[in-house]
Amino acid sequence: MTPGSGFAPDDTIVAIGTPPGTGAIGVIRISGPRAVPLASAMVHLSRPDGLEAVPARTVHRASIIDPQTGEELDVALVVKMMAPQSYTGEDVVELSCHGNAPLLGEVTRLLLLGGARLAEPGEFTRRAYLHGRLDLLQAEAVAELIGARTERAVRLAARQLRGGLAGVIGKIREQLLDLVAGLEVDLDFPEDEVGVPQVAAVEQLEAFGDSVARLVAAARRGRAIQSGMSVMLTGSPNVGKSSLLNALLGADRAIVSPSPGTTRDLVDGELVIAGVPVRMMDGAGLGIPSDVIDAEGMRRARNALEESDAILVVLDRSRDISPSDREVLALTADRPRLIVANKSDLAAAWADPDLSGYVCSALTGDGIGRIKAWLREWVEQRTASDGEEGGIVASLRVVDTLEAAAVALRRAADELGRVPTEAVLVDLREALTALEQTVGIQTDDAILDRIFATFCVGK
Ligand code: GDP
Repeated sequence: MTPGSGFAPDDTIVAIGTPPGTGAIGVIRISGPRAVPLASAMVHLSRPDGLEAVPARTVHRASIIDPQTGEELDVALVVKMMAPQSYTGEDVVELSCHGNAPLLGEVTRLLLLGGARLAEPGEFTRRAYLHGRLDLLQAEAVAELIGARTERAVRLAARQLRGGLAGVIGKIREQLLDLVAGLEVDLDFPEDEVGVPQVAAVEQLEAFGDSVARLVAAARRGRAIQSGMSVMLTGSPNVGKSSLLNALLGADRAIVSPSPGTTRDLVDGELVIAGVPVRMMDGAGLGIPSDVIDAEGMRRARNALEESDAILVVLDRSRDISPSDREVLALTADRPRLIVANKSDLAAAWADPDLSGYVCSALTGDGIGRIKAWLREWVEQRTASDGEEGGIVASLRVVDTLEAAAVALRRAADELGRVPTEAVLVDLREALTALEQTVGIQTDDAILDRIFATFCVGK
């Protein structure tokens, strides 16, 4: 199968399932109708009957033999799982060889010579999805679990992998289908009063809209946990941004210098706060550029500022507030931010209570704990779970489709009774399509290609 060409279920696919490099074991997976005969040609069990004869889901010691030369390549453990009781829902053989890259490459090459095809990225999971072993959200959770960077993200992905979200969305979809059917009956038989009373319909639509909106919020929190968040330090040159970055990271990440304009490109480091990876960034101080490089540095810092999730505005308490400080304060006024008054170890030049809630010294470490506490509270607020749907693991695709459903449902609830029902039905069908895309009821090959292309080979 080439990407985009769809599903070729008759192929038997093979891939190395463990990461490249050396390890105690390396696993080769074979899946498809010819998995057992292909493996049998090179797997010689230490018992007299072959791989074909042993019961499924039992583990056997076997010699891996090069079928062309008869030479033994390795001694491995082998297990077979027969369709539909396997990860992919197809016949599967897994060989646990020794974890050596050339060895695993050679065994794979011989399986390819025997007639297997190298699996595409994510093809095992794609087959599992197409055989109904996993729903699309669970399939995406597999990728999230493999890619999780913190223990919290692992737990979230593992929860999603157990399933459940597709059921929650499926239930909303079914109730919505009933409502659509009722509204259509009303259109067709207006006098018979067999459909849904309008007030009840509006209430129902509002309830659906709220449920989906809660899922969107939970999915956004889930995304923050998975992909992490970013915090940008900003302020005029020389206020102590680099020093503060280093103090927060507990490492000499940024160059600290008494001459303004030392930090010209972005410097960053990662902190794990409340189980969430947080990228802390420092860029050029904002103000009047002294040269072209300075101007470019400021442009990059402004871009990063716009894209960051929160901002630490750093002021220097030992000198008067400057016009460029005011500019930075105005620029960040509408954003989630913490204003930090640095250099508390020096004599204070001002004491504006609005600006000196968080006083610190990057030099002595005074007040750094309170800044970290603020960051922790902000992260927790952004990622906290609330009840059942709290923090669901979701791809951007899922956030987008759920959001589209929520918007269409809200619009339909607003419009019902005020515009012709036909127009409301258009919105409701849009909401249905979006819900169906979320769980994978209506998903074309191009979307599946995109989803599974992000997987690693062998998964
Ligand atoms: P940036 O240009 O805003 O990144 O500022 P830097 O971190 O490079 O610091 C500029 C100067 O201020 C350096 O000489 C630092 O040692 C000094 N500095 C930074 N933080 C403090 C602080 O809390 N107290 C004192 N006394 N000096 C500081």
